[in-house]
Amino acid sequence: MTVTRFAPSPTGYIHIGNLRTALFNYLIARKAGGTFILRIDDTDPERSKEEYVDAIKEDLEWLGLTWDRIERQSGRLDRYAETADKLREMGKFYEAFETPTELDLKRKKQLNMGKPPVYDRAALALSDAEKDALRAERGSGVWRYKLDHERIAWTDGILGDISIDAASVSDPVLIRGDGQVLYTLASIVDDTDMGVTHVVRGSDHVTNTATQIQMIEAIGGTVPEFAHHSLLTGPQGEALSKRLGTLSLRDLRARGVEPMALLSLMARLGSSDPVELRGSMDELIEGFDISRFGSAPTKFDENDLFPLTAHHLQTLPVEAVASDIAALGVPDDIAGQFWAVAKDNITTRADLAEWWTLFRDGAEPLIEEGDEAFVAEAMTLLPDGPYTETTWSEWTSAVKEATGRKGKGLFMPLRLAVTGRRNGPDMASVMPLLQRVRAKG
Ligand code: GLU
Repeated sequence: MTVTRFAPSPTGYIHIGNLRTALFNYLIARKAGGTFILRIDDTDPERSKEEYVDAIKEDLEWLGLTWDRIERQSGRLDRYAETADKLREMGKFYEAFETPTELDLKRKKQLNMGKPPVYDRAALALSDAEKDALRAERGSGVWRYKLDHERIAWTDGILGDISIDAASVSDPVLIRGDGQVLYTLASIVDDTDMGVTHVVRGSDHVTNTATQIQMIEAIGGTVPEFAHHSLLTGPQGEALSKRLGTLSLRDLRARGVEPMALLSLMARLGSSDPVELRGSMDELIEGFDISRFGSAPTKFDENDLFPLTAHHLQTLPVEAVASDIAALGVPDDIAGQFWAVAKDNITTRADLAEWWTLFRDGAEPLIEEGDEAFVAEAMTLLPDGPYTETTWSEWTSAVKEATGRKGKGLFMPLRLAVTGRRNGPDMASVMPLLQRVRAKG
């Protein structure tokens, strides 16, 4: 049974980078007919906010990434305390009292001497009396996990064979001085208790994974399969971290990006398979293969989302946009015709408003210099209604006959006179819709 989880900390809105993690875990679970858990990593009471929990759920729901179970770490503190006791009994846990400044100094000294900045385990040498004295002076220490100094190896679903020397990593702090359980402890307990079989996350977690493998083994858990996807960069390869705020899912939603466009891009970007617009979640699941992803940083250009969004919208039947169209005040019996005319000329749903305004209010005619007489003459040849799909060709034929103009010189001034713009839907369908709407008004 495949079990995956998406484990955001509710300390902000989820962004395009998180989406990659969420989507991969979701697709793996769904493809295997397994379970996808939404795990809220909220052991930090100061930074975790309920509004972000709600926002995360809303964003995932918007995308259709539904979870089978939701778990909250703040509700599992007893389990973490139990495990901490167990690790203490096993002699895997030790208390350390260095202040952040002291640790910083140690790191600087090590770096100066050309050594890796790994915690020196000075706390292991403290006697009970020394610990009591430090505790009296500084309060409780932090609890560090004593790593076994051996190589930790695994076959990563994306990176291939990885091996990390535990001696090159500081013993991780699992519990803070104030008793707050940190992510690593909570995560190994949860992954074990919840039977997580596959963990996909960003490559910034590779070192964490090495230490977590040891810890999961120590508590008797089954080590999941790990895969680390590369981090996203901007289109030029620049770091995206500073811009992630504006690449939150809700921001993209507000800008009109369609879920299918976003999911289609993210399910393929950075893989050796081409990006293809998918019509449904099933198609996305079907076409996903984590082994096709590479380890190189993945360039993400938000502008790629808009052609995909436009393309997706073109595939939709009017029913799928009925509420957007109704919200503009388009009468029900015209909705289908309006959608047929407008859909190929929008990038996002918001663009519908502009076309509706044109049909409802008519356009300010645009007449280019030198075309005044031509347009005036053409207007006298405009057939009487009701307009049909053939009105445009009848009209332009008559104008051609009378003026001798043809091609662009014939069509463009007429389009500009009727719609006020250079681009737009096929004029053969614009004409009847214009008249139908005007007749109603
Ligand atoms: N809350 C962690 C994060 O957002 C989860 C990492 C993980 O998937 O284990 O980085």
